[in-house]
Amino acid sequence: MNRADLHTHTTASDGLHRPADNVRMAKEAGLAAIAITDHDTVAGVAEAAEAGKRYGIEVVPGVEISTSFEGREIHVLGYYVDTADQTLLRRLISQRRVRDSRNEGIVSRLNELGIPITMAHVMEAAGREPGQDETIGRPHIADALVRLGAVATTQEAFDRYLAEGKAAYVAPPPRISPPEAFAWIHEAGGTAIVAHPGLYRNDALAERFLLSGADGLEAYHSDHEPAAESYFRELAERHGKLVTGGSDFHGARKGKVYHGPIGNRTVDAAVLTVLRRHAAR
Ligand SMILES: [Zn+2]
Ligand SMILES: [Zn+2]
Repeated sequence: MNRADLHTHTTASDGLHRPADNVRMAKEAGLAAIAITDHDTVAGVAEAAEAGKRYGIEVVPGVEISTSFEGREIHVLGYYVDTADQTLLRRLISQRRVRDSRNEGIVSRLNELGIPITMAHVMEAAGREPGQDETIGRPHIADALVRLGAVATTQEAFDRYLAEGKAAYVAPPPRISPPEAFAWIHEAGGTAIVAHPGLYRNDALAERFLLSGADGLEAYHSDHEPAAESYFRELAERHGKLVTGGSDFHGARKGKVYHGPIGNRTVDAAVLTVLRRHAAR
């Protein structure tokens, strides 16, 4: 059995374990290969590749790019991207700035209005746990304002400061679309896969993405039901596209594993040959 877990996060993004630890855990789980797919960064890949040589585990260089489509956050996995590609690295930096810039803009406007709020207050109000992909945003800032005593209720926070047109309103910065992420990945020599298509509450989207440049679907994911897994596998196969899978491991804290342990979802490591060949087109 040569199994591969093609979706794991590390301390390079919001995971709890170092890249080398993920590789060790893959070894302990009896896997042949593991992909490192941090949010909008490839910073964890080099350490994992080193550890892969020590443990005899194949490490797939990867990335998980955040995009938006019709108001939904859609994640796109890129495999075998060239992690030294300067254009890709520059694009990923711009992605990480988008992630942080709106909240920081709102916080600094509130500071200008005399409210001593910081991003640390916002993160604390969000009670942020690792593995939560959802973005920190205005509801958390509203909670922080209540905790600071700047307003009595979150409704008041919106009415006075955060709603569109109010004193601390900052428009959301534009995010790239899924087809743009497919192109970024292809231009960096990689293969583009739609991450966890079952989590978007609109199964029809997956087919649209397959028709607009995605090379395949992540049918197997820790948060997918068995019925969703076969639905997306069949959909990808019907379009002659690739099928991948992974745990989306983010780490464990106080006995709670976020999404699933390494090896919770795997695919036959033979798919690596296809992913690499696709990437090399
Ligand atoms: Zn994701
Ligand atoms: Zn993920």
